[in-house]
Parts: sequence; C-alpha cells; structure tokens
Amino acid sequence: MRTLTMKFGGTSVGDADAITQVTEIVRQARAETAEQVAVVVSAMSGVTDLLQSGVLCAAAGDATCHHEAARDLRERHEEAARRLLGDERDPFMEEINHLIEEYTRFCDSVRVLGEATPRALDYTMGLGERMSVRLVAAAMRQRGLEAQAVDATGVIVTDDRFQNAAPLLEETQASVDRVLVPMLERGIVPVVTGFIGATKEGISTTLGRGGSDYSAALLGVCLRSDEVWIWTDVDGVMSADPRIVPEARTIEVLSQREVSELAYFGAKVLHPKTIRPVLEAGIPLRVKNTFNPDHPGTLIVPNDQATDHPIKAVTAIRGLSMITVEGKGMMGVPGIAARTFGAVARTGTSVLIISQASSEQSICFVVPEDSTRAVVDALNEEFALEIARRDIDRVTALEGITIITVVGAGMRERPGIAGRIFTATGDHGVNVIAIAQGSSECSISLVVAAEDADEALRAIHPLTLEN
Ligand code: ADP
Ligand code: ASP
Ligand code: MG
Repeated sequence: MRTLTMKFGGTSVGDADAITQVTEIVRQARAETAEQVAVVVSAMSGVTDLLQSGVLCAAAGDATCHHEAARDLRERHEEAARRLLGDERDPFMEEINHLIEEYTRFCDSVRVLGEATPRALDYTMGLGERMSVRLVAAAMRQRGLEAQAVDATGVIVTDDRFQNAAPLLEETQASVDRVLVPMLERGIVPVVTGFIGATKEGISTTLGRGGSDYSAALLGVCLRSDEVWIWTDVDGVMSADPRIVPEARTIEVLSQREVSELAYFGAKVLHPKTIRPVLEAGIPLRVKNTFNPDHPGTLIVPNDQATDHPIKAVTAIRGLSMITVEGKGMMGVPGIAARTFGAVARTGTSVLIISQASSEQSICFVVPEDSTRAVVDALNEEFALEIARRDIDRVTALEGITIITVVGAGMRERPGIAGRIFTATGDHGVNVIAIAQGSSECSISLVVAAEDADEALRAIHPLTLEN
C-alpha cells in the first residue's frame, strides 16, 4: 500500500477555484500514485496575517480592528463555501462562525490585558488553518472523496516554545498512529491543519511562520510515506524568487544541502525545517505547482549531483541589521568572540552570518532588525569595562540590511566563483558591505543595503546559466 503526504500552501487553498484544483490533484493522486493520501493545508492566503494584525491591534488598545478582521474572515470563507459546499454550507458556516466568535472573544480579552502574549498569538494565529481544513475537507466530500478535517492540536505534540514550538517526536508518532493511520486504512483522506500543534497539556502552539511545510514533513515521516509533495504557487524551487527575477527557472534536482541553504537564506518556497526529517527518513521530497500540476517541479535528493552549473540559485533575506564590535584593543585578546556571541545568545537572538576581519579589530554579524536594540544593549553591558578602557571603541548597528546568498554545491571545486560574483555586483553598482562563506562551502553570502537587494539578485542571477 503506497502512502503519499501532500501539503497545499495558502494560495493553493486561497479561493474556490484553487480548492477545486486541489481536490482534483488529490483525486488523481489516489487514482494513479498512492492508495493512501494524507493532506496538510495552510490557512487561505493572507488569513494568518489578518488574524495576527487583528490581535496585535487589540493589544494596542483598538476596539474595532479585530472585528473588521473577523468580518473579512467570514466573507472569505463564506464566498468559497457558497461556491463549493452545496448542502454542507450551513453546517460549515456554523463551525466557522464558532471559530470566529472564539477569535473575537480572545481579542477582546487581549485588549483588556493590553498585551498579546506568545501563547495568545499562537492560539489566535492558528485559527486560519482550523477554518481552511474544514473548508477543504467539505469541498472534497462534495466531489465524492471521503475526507475528514483534522486539527493537528490532537496530533502534533510540541514543547511550549510558543511561536516557534518544537515537535516531540515520540508523542507525535503515537498520535499519528492512533488518529491518522486508522483513517487512511479506512480509505479516508485526512485533511490536517498545517502550522499548529499543542503541548502535552493541550495548549495550542505554532511551529513558526511558514510552518505548514514542516507539519507535512513531520506527518509524512510519522506516516512512513513513500513520498512527500509540497504543492505551492510556483513551478518548484527556482533559481531566484520569480517575483523579483522574472527569468528565474525551475531547478529540476537539488541536494539536501543545497536546498537547506536556500531555505535558510530566504527562499520562502520551503520552510527550512522541512527538509531534514524527510530526507533522513529516506523519503523523496518534491515541490510542485498546484496551478501547473503537469510540470515536474523540483525533486530533492540526499546527495549533491554532478552539474555543469556551479551556481544554482540566489536568494535574499531582508529586514536585518549588521552589528559591529570594533576596537584596536581587541587584537589578540582571547574570548572576545565567545563573549560577544554569549551576550547575543542571552537575548534569544539568532545570528544569521558572522564575518571577522583578519586584523581582528572588528567582529561583525547579522541579526534580525527587530532584535537590534536588545543586542546592542547586551553588548554594551557585556563590554562595559573594555569600552571604559577604550579596548573596544564602539558597538554599532547598521539597519536596513539584506543578505544575498549564492548557492550551489558545484562552487566548491571551481575557483573564481567569488570573483565572478563581485564582478557582477560591481558592474551593477551594488556595494558589498561584508561577505561570508557558508561552512558547507556550498553558499557564499553578501551583505548589501536593502535598497540594493533586488539589483544584486538581478546582477547575480545570470551566473546560474554559466558553466
Ligand atoms: P505557500 O503558501 O504555498 O507555502 P509561500 O508563499 O510560502 O507559498 O512560498 C512560495 C513563494 O516563495 C513563491 O510564490 C515565491 O514568490 C517565493 N520564493 C522565494 N524564493 C523562491 C525560489 N527560489 N523558488 C521558488 N519560489 C521562491
Ligand atoms: N499559515 C501560516 C503562515 O502564514 C503557515 C504557512 O502558511 O505555512 O505562516
Ligand atoms: Mg509557505
């Protein structure tokens, strides 16, 4: 018996036409590829943002905007239900209205408290998936597929790091065996919420933004699927974000290392945590386009493949700051780097790239822009003595930074790749502020100003065609 786990993203369930397409894809997969198909879906596109902005607005004391969000949510789901659900429309809308009432009640109390805690954010932001699974499962039933909506709060068990919870694998495996396996054995298509889970105590959590891909990876592994397919709104993983670089092409095959670098450095098409569990379990992972299902998309394989094109893709992460610790007295002093990153770690900030000048007179690294203040304060405190003694001159932050990353396993064996990259950026007038090479040697990152980012992507992209 073959099992396939398929995840459909926000655009893929964004309106009635898209959901009809999803139903068709699932029907076809059951007929041609696997007897058992488990489906994971995101919230309809834009819904998670809407839920979040409503609750944050309530926390800031506004009494109306979460009601506006609630109205928009109702309209989006009602419109799709009107077109898709026939006699299931009324019971579906009853459930949606119930979830929306929970949302507004929650936002009202957040407004009274004046604070949206991570726990409150997880509960409210996860409601979009709880709505979309009901819509998609009902739409499938209307088209003759036996499907059932499942809230992953009863399946994916996580720790309590709200907003970025980590799954507990043993507990999740046990729930998958108890809840999903019997459904599949009875020929039912479970339509499971992406993005969300719950603690052992049953408190709702989320796996982080874009986390539905990760949900699919976890369920795919726990179901011992033959393959995991991520359905999105582009033809697979491409040589650049096609919204910025229209010439971007689909990459047919990518290795685990390459796609991990791409995902980590901003290619939103796959959540970075998706890849490892699936590949380690020896399960092929594919990325395909819901709106162009005959296109083969991208296949992700465990090992690097021989290729004529050393550079496969270029990506960007925006909204960052570069922090620099500098001072002539730092030279040769042991432990400065360890203390720097120790102080940063205590703020709970993750560092994206690090680059140290060879003179040892400065250390610079890049962090998310919203952590800038906390990181600078922590470093000023950590080095108060050295600053007073003028061993360290200053800790500075440069906001409005983007990291551009060039990825390809074939770059290792080819000399001169960095030269080609700098020629390309230089020719386009892009100023490179700092550079770092990934330890796996399959990526090179450049730090540029936010306003240069798109130009840098377009300047570097033609190198993906070179040998
Ligand atoms: P979904 O809702 O299906 O999860 P996302 O919006 O999270 O979809 O991810 C798909 C989007 O990722 C694409 O529409 C595309 O604009 C963007 N993207 C960024 N970099 C890449 C890339 N290298 N290849 C493909 N898509 C990319
Ligand atoms: N709906 C969630 C988000 O927007 C999860 C996802 O789409 O993967 O982040
Ligand atoms: Mg996504």
